[in-house]
Amino acid sequence: MPNVYNWQLGREMHYPYSEKHPEAQFAFVFNINRCIACQTCTMACKSTWTFSKGQEYMWWNNVETKPYGGYPQSWDVKLLELLDDAHQKAGREAAWDSTRRDDERQPYGVYEGMTVFEAARHADKREEVALGYEPTDDEWRFPNIYEDTATGSRDQRESQNLESTGLPEHHTWFFYLQRICNHCTYPACLSACPRGAIYKRPEDGIVLIDQKRCRGYRKCVMQCPYKKPMFRATTRVSEKCIACYPRIEGKDPLTEGEPMETRCMAACVGKIRLQGLVGLNEDGSWIEDRQNPLYYLIKVEKVALPLYPQFGTEPNGYYIPPRWAPREYLRQMFGPGVDEAIEKYSRPSRELLAVLQLFRASQRIVFRYEIIEGEKVFERTVNGEAWSMYNDTVVGFGKNGEEVARVTVEEPIFVRPDVHSNLI
Ligand code: SF4
Ligand code: SF4
Repeated sequence: MPNVYNWQLGREMHYPYSEKHPEAQFAFVFNINRCIACQTCTMACKSTWTFSKGQEYMWWNNVETKPYGGYPQSWDVKLLELLDDAHQKAGREAAWDSTRRDDERQPYGVYEGMTVFEAARHADKREEVALGYEPTDDEWRFPNIYEDTATGSRDQRESQNLESTGLPEHHTWFFYLQRICNHCTYPACLSACPRGAIYKRPEDGIVLIDQKRCRGYRKCVMQCPYKKPMFRATTRVSEKCIACYPRIEGKDPLTEGEPMETRCMAACVGKIRLQGLVGLNEDGSWIEDRQNPLYYLIKVEKVALPLYPQFGTEPNGYYIPPRWAPREYLRQMFGPGVDEAIEKYSRPSRELLAVLQLFRASQRIVFRYEIIEGEKVFERTVNGEAWSMYNDTVVGFGKNGEEVARVTVEEPIFVRPDVHSNLI
């Protein structure tokens, strides 16, 4: 296998294909702290793409409850167990060296364990390119099984090593995990397909399954560690999230040719989602673009982290971790950047607080933002240090440079005139 560079792991890794990167990459940030599991995103996706015969159990977007839930059931626990077995067989540890960090090439340190591609050779089915399994029909039955089921208790606090964030700690906890295909930089689905039916678009890095080439062998279903390709029994081919590519291309008449966010992002009630495109250099590193909100959140502020980076696919979905869940659990899920991300989120910088207002401020993709400074409106102590809030205004600009969003940190209050009272 050739070696490719995975910046989320801070090292080269084995991948079946040589490196070749798109001009831009579809990426997104989900703020777990804000999600209310209303499933509006889920239904927006379903009513757009998966409402037909044979797609009944398909949820390209799903929101599951952690730690017990998962769609398909226990997908991540099963993958982590497979990885763990492979490490035991190889006599290795799935550890991170967080002392070897540099901002650009190794922002989270170096992952010293094996990815799903590297571990495949230690698995029972060694002919597969990535470690994986195919879920049973039963496991696809529930998009949010164990909804709102908490774990833990006050007695477990010590054993869970719950560290203080300066904000209310939850001794019993759960959180919602929002999931779509990550349109990975090194997709396991693509590398698994014996038909070469899966491809990554050169213009935006969106990963698609060519429905005409697919023969329904389900290797993608088996080897995507996130379990995001799904088999459709009526057509006997696999399908997956298409990142609403007509909207990304500006084909929706609402935006007059300008790139528009996907359905699940645009519908989000909790304003937890921000999606966009980041420019890539030829070697796959991100073109420095300080004022792109995604670049800022992921690369500069490092408040949003990849989901299970140790799997090795370099997913392009990033999460602001929930501040109330046990750190050990979160580090397993989002890597060693968790503590820094929670610290930054709990006591946000003036710029971060302003950029967080951009979530769901426009259906058009924000390519650049500017901040207009406002007055100090609030101050308090957070984690023993003084913190001030300013009513800054953040302005978002679309691809063509036109303003698409303008929001303030303090939400304005609108009082309905008397004429509307008791109107119903
Ligand atoms: S629409 Fe937003 S708030 Fe509602 S479940 Fe989806 S991600 Fe969470
Ligand atoms: S999340 Fe899975 S289906 Fe999506 S690109 Fe990555 S490997 Fe492929």
